[in-house]
Amino acid sequence: MKKYIAPIVLWLAFEAVAILLWLTLDEFFYLLNFSYIGTAVAIGIALFVSGFKYARMAVQLAVGIYMLVYLGIISRENMQIEGFWYYLFSGTFQAAVIHYLVAKIAGPFLFGRGWCGYACWTAMVLDFLPYKTPKSHDRKKSLGKIRYILFILALTFVASLFYFNAPNLEMIMFIAFIVGNILYYGVGIALAFMFKDNRAFCKYICPITIFLKPASYFSLLRMKVDKAKCVNCQKCVASCPMDVDITDNKRSRKNATECILCGECTRVCPTKAIKM
Ligand code: SF4
Ligand code: SF4
Ligand code: SF4
Repeated sequence: MKKYIAPIVLWLAFEAVAILLWLTLDEFFYLLNFSYIGTAVAIGIALFVSGFKYARMAVQLAVGIYMLVYLGIISRENMQIEGFWYYLFSGTFQAAVIHYLVAKIAGPFLFGRGWCGYACWTAMVLDFLPYKTPKSHDRKKSLGKIRYILFILALTFVASLFYFNAPNLEMIMFIAFIVGNILYYGVGIALAFMFKDNRAFCKYICPITIFLKPASYFSLLRMKVDKAKCVNCQKCVASCPMDVDITDNKRSRKNATECILCGECTRVCPTKAIKM
C-alpha cells in the first residue's frame, strides 16, 4: 500500500488546485482540466509502481495529446514559454500563466520534474525514439547554455510585440505555437540521433528547464536508494535517461535536478532498493 502514497498525494494536490481555481476564478474549465491531468498522472504512476511497463508512456500520450491538440491547436492557447510571457504581459491570470505556475514553477517543489516524465508533449514524441538509454552519460556542458539563449529570445520576442503594439497578437501567438513546436520536434529528433540520446533536447535546449530545475532541487517526491539493499551494481546509473547518480541520496547528487521520476532505475535494480 505504501507504494501508492505518491500517486494519491499527487492526485489530491491536483484536485486541490482544480477546486481552488474553479472557485476563485469561477471557471468550470479549470476543475475539468486539472482533474483530468491529475487523475491521468496519478493512475499512470500507480500502474507503473504496480509493474505496468508502458504506463508512463500511456499517461504521456493522454496528457501530451490533450495539451498539444486540444489546448494548443483547437483552443489556440499558446502553452509554450512565449505563451507564458504573453499572458503575463497581458496581465491575465489564466491559461499558460496558471499552467506554468502549477506544472513548472511551484509544482516542482512537490513533484520535481514529473512534468517532464509524464506530461510533456515534446518528450511524448522523443521517448519513442530508439535511444531510451543514452549512449554516453557524459554531458556536453557548453551546449547547456543554448537553453538560456532561447529563454531570452522568447522573452524578447514577446516583449517586442507589446513594445511595438503589434496587431493580431492572438494570431501571432498561435502561429508561434505551431512553428515553435515544429522546430522543437525537428531539433529534438535530430539531436536524439546525433547524440544517440532521446532526451538530448531536454538536457541542452529546452528553455523551460530554467523554471523547472530550481524548485525540483527541493522536491518532496524523489527517488531514493535503500543503502541496506544496494549491492552497488550501478545498473540504475547506467539505465538513467537523464544521467542522474541515483545511488547518491543527497539532494546535491550528480544531475540531481534532472530526474524526471520515470522509474527506469527501479525497473533495473536487482534488489528493489530504489523507491519514490
Ligand atoms: S525538459 Fe523540456 S522538452 Fe524535456 S520533458 Fe521537460 S519540458 Fe519537455
Ligand atoms: S534517477 Fe531514475 S527515475 Fe530519475 S530519471 Fe533516472 S531513471 Fe528516471
Ligand atoms: S541498481 Fe539497485 S543495487 Fe544496483 S547500484 Fe542501483 S540501487 Fe544499488
